[in-house]
Amino acid sequence: MQDSFVHKGKRKILVDYLREKMGISDEKVLNAINVVPRHLFLESIFEDFAYEDRAFPILAQQTISHPSTVAEQTELLELQEKEKVLEIGTGCGYQAAVLVQMNVLVYTVERQKDLHDFSQKKLRELHLRPKFQSFGDGFLGLPTFAPFDKILVTCGAEILPTELLHQLKIGGKMVIPLGKTDEQILYRFTKISPTEFEKEEFGAYKFVPMLNNTNH
Ligand code: SAH
Repeated sequence: MQDSFVHKGKRKILVDYLREKMGISDEKVLNAINVVPRHLFLESIFEDFAYEDRAFPILAQQTISHPSTVAEQTELLELQEKEKVLEIGTGCGYQAAVLVQMNVLVYTVERQKDLHDFSQKKLRELHLRPKFQSFGDGFLGLPTFAPFDKILVTCGAEILPTELLHQLKIGGKMVIPLGKTDEQILYRFTKISPTEFEKEEFGAYKFVPMLNNTNH
């Protein structure tokens, strides 16, 4: 598969939709979505639909998030260039690619080996390499590289992973869906002091579950 003018045209239409219908206004986010070839992260059977606002199955019974969810979560991070960003749930690597394209330093963790391997290869091929990709349990974060300016969780956690809050800088933000498996609420936590957080709510979503290493 290649990135043709047809794909580029479809991406432009998707970006217009995200801006006009989904209320995404951060031009840096929209620009990254306009540039990153989402279809190359999907199986070829989904190529024609890759720029519709849909989720698709990826390896290991996981899913790539809707483009509108990627855009919303990324916008909520309020990214500045060169910030250190920890992503939990690399999946196929599409969200990580959007972050790298935005010129932030991406650290990403995935607990499924197939997806870790797939995303690493894909991101290398596309020259959109995170600073560090880890195969492991995202509940633990990445203490060696902490603290982070921003943390993005792309799977739904039933309980708040407090270790991740510890790894956030003061003034840093974590965007995370929280709730039971069938529906989560998207939250943004802003770290005010080592023990105080501001918590904001951004509506209902459905993410694949955040599992610890003993589940499959
Ligand atoms: N950002 C991804 C979304 C993938 S879906 C993309 O753009 O494709 C969420 C991912 O979170 C899945 O791949 C799942 O395996 C992973 N995940 C679930 N629990 C996890 C955990 N505890 N640590 C790391 N990754 C986890």
